[in-house]
Amino acid sequence: MTMIIVDEIKYAKVAVDLPLLPSTKDEDIYYYSVPNEIKNEIKSGTIVHIPFGKQEVNGYVIEVLTSKISELIDKDIHIKPVYDIICKNPVWDEKYLELARWISKYYFTNIGTVLSFSANTEVLNHYSHEVKLIKEKDLLDDLNNDQLFIINKLLQSKKKCLSYKFLMQKSRFSKARFYQLINQLQNKDILKKQIKKTIYKKTKKDHEILFKLKPASVKTKNIIMNKEQENAFNNIYDSIQKNEYKTFLLHGVTGSGKTEIYLNLINETLKKNKTVIYLVPEIYLVPQIYERLSNRFKSEEIIIWHSSLGKGERLTYWDKLQKNEVKIVLGARSAILATIKNLGLIVIDEAHESSYKQASPMPRYNAIKVAQKRGEIEKCPVVLGTATPNVDEYFECTTKETILNLPKRIEDIPMPTVHIVDLREEYPKSEKNIISNVLKSSITEALKKKEQIILLLNRRGYSSTAFCRACGYIQYCKNCSVPLVYHKNRGSMTCHHCGFEKAVNLHSLVCPECKSPHFKFTGLGTQQLEEEIKMTFQNAKAIRVDSDQLRKKDEYLKLWEEFSSGKADILIGTQIVAKGIDLPNVTVVGVISADSMLNFPDYVSGEKAFQLLTQISGRAGRGDKPGNVFIQTYQAENPLFSYVTAHNFKAFYQSEIKHRQDFKYPPFTMLIRLVFQSYSEKDCINYANHTLTLLSNIAKEEKLIPEKECSFLGPAPCFFTKLHGKYRQHILCKISNKEIKNQIFHKYFELSTKNDKVEVIIDIDSINLL
Ligand code: ADP
Ligand code: ZN
Ligand code: ZN
Repeated sequence: MTMIIVDEIKYAKVAVDLPLLPSTKDEDIYYYSVPNEIKNEIKSGTIVHIPFGKQEVNGYVIEVLTSKISELIDKDIHIKPVYDIICKNPVWDEKYLELARWISKYYFTNIGTVLSFSANTEVLNHYSHEVKLIKEKDLLDDLNNDQLFIINKLLQSKKKCLSYKFLMQKSRFSKARFYQLINQLQNKDILKKQIKKTIYKKTKKDHEILFKLKPASVKTKNIIMNKEQENAFNNIYDSIQKNEYKTFLLHGVTGSGKTEIYLNLINETLKKNKTVIYLVPEIYLVPQIYERLSNRFKSEEIIIWHSSLGKGERLTYWDKLQKNEVKIVLGARSAILATIKNLGLIVIDEAHESSYKQASPMPRYNAIKVAQKRGEIEKCPVVLGTATPNVDEYFECTTKETILNLPKRIEDIPMPTVHIVDLREEYPKSEKNIISNVLKSSITEALKKKEQIILLLNRRGYSSTAFCRACGYIQYCKNCSVPLVYHKNRGSMTCHHCGFEKAVNLHSLVCPECKSPHFKFTGLGTQQLEEEIKMTFQNAKAIRVDSDQLRKKDEYLKLWEEFSSGKADILIGTQIVAKGIDLPNVTVVGVISADSMLNFPDYVSGEKAFQLLTQISGRAGRGDKPGNVFIQTYQAENPLFSYVTAHNFKAFYQSEIKHRQDFKYPPFTMLIRLVFQSYSEKDCINYANHTLTLLSNIAKEEKLIPEKECSFLGPAPCFFTKLHGKYRQHILCKISNKEIKNQIFHKYFELSTKNDKVEVIIDIDSINLL
């Protein structure tokens, strides 16, 4: 007689969210066996409870397989069983898992981190389990002692229902045994597992506050697209029809009718029964788009998704996503990772904004790159709309001939006149020279006509530096290598990086170094500008908006509301005022000092300055009144200004792209930045040096061509040499393509040894070199 041994086992590949070394192979995947009791429920894309070391954690099922036990043993794979399933319907479909895998490989992040990020901890933590007895007491037989123990506990409870947590505490079973018992009893139809959803108190919802901000004007009339719009629409529509991925760059100034094109494209996508993701760079831009979307499409099929949703909101929207009830996801950066299925179109508005790149935490992704990959996987077009494209995206779309131009504003509103004000000439005329005479008289004129004014100053606070005229001492933060900024309203000097605060008594202010009384605040901040403006234009109402207020969302939106409804005349703020809200009554825009933008030690600084100046200029003269823009500077001869005054993106692009090519910056190379941070300067420098040697050796061994295929710059102190008490060094890697990037870094991960005292951050396609 031969005996048949069942040697087959069902097992799952599971990802876990742990701060592991970046994944190069499949090292971030763990193997778990699937208990018989739940073998039909576990599918790829579901969330499970698993034992992990001594903990019990969430696991994300990537794949379910069957194999011979002997094969697993051969491969030296030891497996523990999955405890239980948390969320029955798959959260992620195959396409999403492919995307997550790509993100994890491209950005060197553990795939579990990507998945956990896409679901959000609030969502994951809200699942708590309970069991309910569903069979009559008399019908219970055939149970073993352990099973009986659980049943008895349930019988003793009032509602015949208990949480796992309680039951586990009362019993002495191992976790594995406990879950096994529950699952066995469920299979016998004696009890039922149910997910208890935590109910959140209704608090004031973020977006309710957000929605108090009514858009200035929304025309709901039937709009017929003009010739340029029609052309752009047709190109993209063609891709929608063919289910084909392409990235289109819709290059058009604000007011040239881009949103109208998006709406028509969304309409076509929904007709095909597909879904849409629509990204805006900041959450306060959500309301005006939401208004236009819900005017045209069913509002119950639109959700809003961004990082600061309230708990209740997020859970409601998550449920809708899980039930496939959502057609349009509107949101900021993280909405690109929304788990919506069946995508047909991705729209990214104001695509030049650097907020699309996540700086931290992991994954440090760029939403545009992720959108492009998602488009490729889902076979759908990606539309990047902007008035001031990033040169690397423009370059890419030029090569692929997917640039669509909208050269004019709708109704032919003329572009504003941009004046460059040379402060060197102004200085003798007005002593304080915060506001030049031309700007002053323009403001006066506008106020007379009841028009509005926006003033941009890229520096928060009252004064930027406390400086001793006697000995040259500058008051720095004790944790960071940045000067403290004086905030008059708080009566203190503050660090804009770590929040360190030092109280200031103006009456007894002396230099901490030499005790000289000539210890003064210099450098203009928005608070001081506000004070100055209020003094100069006493009959006008001036308000200030900057990221100090961003922390208090209500406050911030109230100010916006005041300005957009015309209750205030002058809006003063940091670059936040340049970002896309339609204000037809603004005719004068002043940039108080453009110089700080020009002198940033960053390869994108030229591009960012051009974009900011062009965007802020675009705020002037949006209605039927012509606009005037004044840019104050000590460097009037800088060629950048000629491109801004001529509204000539092409000329700017030509010069910038040449610069990038000459200095081997993106799009001609990939830029990878390694940042080393440590409380010990010596450890930091040593480890950075050690890493450079390692990288150089790898390049040599892999026979890569120096300069052409890879070059390493540094290590050098970062622009901010010290932040939050940690010293900072960085290495910049310029690498010719992503294959070489993987070649180098896979070796690097293999060979590098961890240093507990030094933290290493690897930022792929870094746009911030500070
Ligand atoms: P953008 O997104 O480029 O800023 P919008 O699509 O918001 O531009 O268009 C600006 C304004 O012009 C909106 O009020 C819009 O309703 C209107 N508009 C857009 N296209 C047309 C058109 N073809 N005819 C008339 N009005 C239009
Ligand atoms: Zn001094
Ligand atoms: Zn600090």
